[in-house]
Amino acid sequence: MHATDLKNLSYSGLVSLLSEMGEKPYRAKQLWKWMYQKHVKSFDEMTDLSTSLRNRLEKNCALINFKLVQKLISKDKSEKFLFELPDQNTIETVYMPSPDRITLCISTQVGCRMGCKFCLTTQQGLMRNLSAGEILNQVIEVQRRVDQKITNIVMMGMGEPLENLENVIQAIDILRSPDAFNLSQRKITVSTVGLVPAIEEFGKRTDVNLAISLNASTDLLRSQIIPINRKYPLQTLLDACRNYPLKPQRKITFEYVVFKDLNDSAEDIKNLGTMLKDIPCKINLIPFNEHKAGSFQRPLDQTVITMQDALKQNGINATIRYSRGRDILAACGQLASQSANLQ
Ligand code: SAH
Repeated sequence: MHATDLKNLSYSGLVSLLSEMGEKPYRAKQLWKWMYQKHVKSFDEMTDLSTSLRNRLEKNCALINFKLVQKLISKDKSEKFLFELPDQNTIETVYMPSPDRITLCISTQVGCRMGCKFCLTTQQGLMRNLSAGEILNQVIEVQRRVDQKITNIVMMGMGEPLENLENVIQAIDILRSPDAFNLSQRKITVSTVGLVPAIEEFGKRTDVNLAISLNASTDLLRSQIIPINRKYPLQTLLDACRNYPLKPQRKITFEYVVFKDLNDSAEDIKNLGTMLKDIPCKINLIPFNEHKAGSFQRPLDQTVITMQDALKQNGINATIRYSRGRDILAACGQLASQSANLQ
């Protein structure tokens, strides 16, 4: 049996563990500061705890650290980290600095079982969910290795976050807490393929940004490229979006990966205009990032710009996501546990 990783515990969970050890609740705050604000690697470094408490924590609990297997740096300054977890599975995390924000794209599962035809991650299948501590530890491990403070978190790395709802919510609570990472709900985004019941549950339990990978304007195409669309077709998905409890001024983001000659026609724009007109939303167009698995093609930049303009004319706010790190296979849909094996 492995000892409990303290990063897997909620605040109240940590308080009860400490109370079993005869310690006062305020110790939890001290531990969080060391783990989530100072990013220490060991109990030894927690210098305002008594030696006796540090020794007991060392004996009964764990602070899991990852092994950095590989770090690749892109021409555009983004960095891709391949981390090894305690059970030897590996995951990828992508650091994306830009002038106005420092974003970290984190994984929520080892692999993925959603089977989207255009995504490299799915080729390896699902190994397992990440624990809440493993989701958070990506932020800690990267923050230790970079100069700038991470300001935004996107759960858009490997895996389907809403398949791992409990751990994702617990990680979000800790990312938000002023005693831990202290990030506002606007700086955290969770992207889902569209698991309708989990979207409903998610909306009840948190108010961070929600992004939905739409990627097609008809059920015919969406079911071909995103198998879960057969279970939760567009009508059901869009109803869930209409009923989503959004605060005033907030919007759902629809991600729309653009594939050459597949979902980039005037008809698609018209469909999108109709589908999304009564949902407070914006569309994020993502030119498809090519990888060796699969036969989809990247559209011309001009096609995507034309689509953006046309969507705007249809009253839909559209942006283009020029993915970072394409040269190091760090871009959307290019993440895999052992990239080298799948390229
Ligand atoms: N499972 C979640 C999060 C991971 S994917 C989801 O489906 O949303 C993050 C985003 O990358 C999704 O919008 C997905 O559609 C997009 N994506 C996947 N493969 C891609 C590729 N090869 N090129 C561009 N975007 C891709």
